[in-house]
Amino acid sequence: MKTIAYINKQIPTAVVAAENGEIFELEGYGAVGMSGDKLTILTKTDTCDMPHGSELMMLPHRRPIVFNVSTDQFEVMEFNPYDPKEKIYPVGVFNSPGYVNRHVCAYDDAGIKNPLPLFSYGAVGFGKKNFRSAALLVDKEPRQDLRQMPRERVVLGVNRIKKKYPDNRLMRHLERCALEYGCPAGKNFFLGRYEAPLPTSKVCNANCMGCISLQTENNLCACQDRINFTPSSREIAQVSLEHISRVKKAVVSFGQGCEGEPLTAVKAIAPAIEMIRKQTDCGTINLNTNASLPDHVKILCNAGLDSMRVSMNSVRGNCYHAYFRPKSYDFSDVLASIKIAKEKGKFVSINYLNCPGFTDSVKEVDALVRYIRTLDINMIQWRNLNFDPKKYIHLMTEAEDGGSPTGMAALIQSLGKEFPNLVHGYFNPPKESHAG
Ligand code: SF4
Repeated sequence: MKTIAYINKQIPTAVVAAENGEIFELEGYGAVGMSGDKLTILTKTDTCDMPHGSELMMLPHRRPIVFNVSTDQFEVMEFNPYDPKEKIYPVGVFNSPGYVNRHVCAYDDAGIKNPLPLFSYGAVGFGKKNFRSAALLVDKEPRQDLRQMPRERVVLGVNRIKKKYPDNRLMRHLERCALEYGCPAGKNFFLGRYEAPLPTSKVCNANCMGCISLQTENNLCACQDRINFTPSSREIAQVSLEHISRVKKAVVSFGQGCEGEPLTAVKAIAPAIEMIRKQTDCGTINLNTNASLPDHVKILCNAGLDSMRVSMNSVRGNCYHAYFRPKSYDFSDVLASIKIAKEKGKFVSINYLNCPGFTDSVKEVDALVRYIRTLDINMIQWRNLNFDPKKYIHLMTEAEDGGSPTGMAALIQSLGKEFPNLVHGYFNPPKESHAG
């Protein structure tokens, strides 16, 4: 008969927060993950040490769900069992880039209307010595490893660029991104690493529930302001050529968190790409987009774009519309854009905003397999959705019930078998690694 001690060794301990935000273990209680309505006891095998750079989050006003090892029961808890006067709250983990949530943290939000702030809330517990995340690694690249981005070096880079390009407004904007918002892509430009951001568009033709650059509903606030000007093609080309000239296998990307939809700025972007390609064949010119405007995608592909990453929460139209809330386009336009980019030989990724319980649901998985096969997608970039998981699952189930969760790890594994050439990761790869 497995003893409590043995079970305890296999099950990370539940972690909760006190009113003041102090996080502590709940001895005798196991950590629990949630995928839709399905609760899962976390184990040592399906968790990993909490990745460096991850952040623990207290979920305000909610009640944690834990596993009582002695009674073998899941329990919703409002007060600390060791101090019944003390209210306790759930704790989730915002895992660092490259780690996919297997489950979100388990909590009860009955009676609460307002959604949680725009973060992802992975399931977490405490192991022998460390916090343990219910997550799996899909991209090892240290592109956004904060340990490699010391502020003093960023500041040196900003000063060097300011001297060299005193009139470039886009570089001034990126200085704010790097120094004020702490944006890793902005920092990488000034550090001369990996991928540089090229924000260009003030507006967007979608209205995503979890948009991080513009929020007008609920109690939610955007993480950063949208760029309030359209950089000139010359300013865009200058940023790109500066980065490409300094960085081996450089990537420069349109479509950042501090802007709307880049396809709406095609008039500035297309000439910029031509200017870059007139000067060099080096570097990868990438477009992060909602792919809403097929004609504009064609123009950019003809101008010299190398790759396109399409953001979507679902490959089923009704679920896509429920989250993206397109203002002036339709999911079929997104599919048409992907077809055009593939016909023109571009490397196409989907920026898959994933939420356990929905993304690994039976219907979503079936649709995803059909989708990859039909459109011959090159890569899935797995992004933990930064939105209240319970509100999201409710919204998606209203759009179309996807059925039971099949497991995020099982999903990625089965895709690996079914599509051996399909790349799984987190970051936009340089064209040198785009398979022929
Ligand atoms: S497509 Fe991007 S910019 Fe537009 S609403 Fe969605 S998240 Fe915001």
